[in-house]
Amino acid sequence: MECLGSALTNKYSEGLPHARYYGGNEIVDQVEIMCQKRALEAYGLDPEKWGVNVQPYSGSPANFAVYTALLRPHDRIMGLDLPSGGHLTHGFYTYSKKEGTRKAVSATSVYFESLPYRVHPETGYVDHEQLARDAGLFKPAMIICGGSAYPRDWDYAKFREIADANGSLLMMDMAHISGLVATGEQSSPFDYCDIVTTTTHKSLRGPRAGMIFFRKDERGFESRINQAVFPALQGGPHEHQIAGVATQLKEVCTPEFKVYSQQVKKNAAALANRLQTKYGYKMASGGTENHLVLWDLKPNGITGSKYEKACDHVCITLNKNCVPGDRSAVTPGGVRIGAPALTTRKMCEEDFEQIGDFLHEVLEASLKIQEKSGPKLKDFAAMLDSDETLKDIRERVNKFATSFPMPGFDPKEMKYTSPNGV
Ligand code: PLP
Repeated sequence: MECLGSALTNKYSEGLPHARYYGGNEIVDQVEIMCQKRALEAYGLDPEKWGVNVQPYSGSPANFAVYTALLRPHDRIMGLDLPSGGHLTHGFYTYSKKEGTRKAVSATSVYFESLPYRVHPETGYVDHEQLARDAGLFKPAMIICGGSAYPRDWDYAKFREIADANGSLLMMDMAHISGLVATGEQSSPFDYCDIVTTTTHKSLRGPRAGMIFFRKDERGFESRINQAVFPALQGGPHEHQIAGVATQLKEVCTPEFKVYSQQVKKNAAALANRLQTKYGYKMASGGTENHLVLWDLKPNGITGSKYEKACDHVCITLNKNCVPGDRSAVTPGGVRIGAPALTTRKMCEEDFEQIGDFLHEVLEASLKIQEKSGPKLKDFAAMLDSDETLKDIRERVNKFATSFPMPGFDPKEMKYTSPNGV
């Protein structure tokens, strides 16, 4: 945060280190080179074989820069479907009832033709067979792995096999798991992929930015990617962000960060386990191998949207999310719960079990409210304020949460309160 608020924010530096369109960048060059070096070190990459561009403003611009660099407009891509846990920028489109047509939601699906692959509706794991079959017909220019709500690891060897069988490039968007990959807590995509993109603000725990790793070989990805980032899509790099990323990448290489990543995984597993074994709830894919839990609420008869609102009311922040078998991203059947932030606040397995107990209480209360409100979200939300059970849970959640440290600010000095007055 010190870097983000530093004087680096004041300096324009279009171009790359030692090749800028502005003078006065001697220090900025040092910062950016340091960030590139640390990024390669964090993933154990040989600088002769891999390069990195650390200028993308965030994850979505990083992905679009890759497509701009390596694809032609209307080339075909295949990414994990959004309702299966993929990301918008992997080519999401939907069906518009109003217009009676396919509707591009992300610019990725405006400029490229996408055919999604999915997780298996029963197992919740990526359906490689479907991907292989469809890729054989569709012959995509690029296959994208990675997702936003996938609780399992990625079988890169299988993806590579399918990509090779169809002459496709293979890109991994490791935004969610990049901290776990750096610490060896999830498999590394670098042995198999041509390109790896990431955000820096999720499990990597840095400031908001993006990075693109590219193979250095005769295909010339380096100059194509660098030119796509600037001047094709971006202007001056945000060197204050780049300094923040460099700082975080130093931490990523420490033994303490390895312990943190291990704890993130243990905590997510403890939560999944509590919800599953104590209460019999359904976790998509039967559990988790990474930092998040995807809870399928469909067997409980409530939508992710309603449950998210009820959780907001007790000061628990989670995210409504599609779960395997959902048809539409608009009415998600579950919620996604991540462990990195609360692990940073020093919570361990028993604390996540306590969170599981709170979540169970909120679900029971929500089901009772729904009985009275009927199925409409608006009616359900209108009843939350006056519910005494939720109020009681909120008080206990706050007592529990405020007993843990909060990095970045002191809650006692907070000027603003939430609408709930806490
Ligand atoms: N890729 C994946 C897999 C993501 O989950 C996200 C963000 O949620 C992004 C890309 C986009 O990142 P940003 O929001 O920084 O543009």
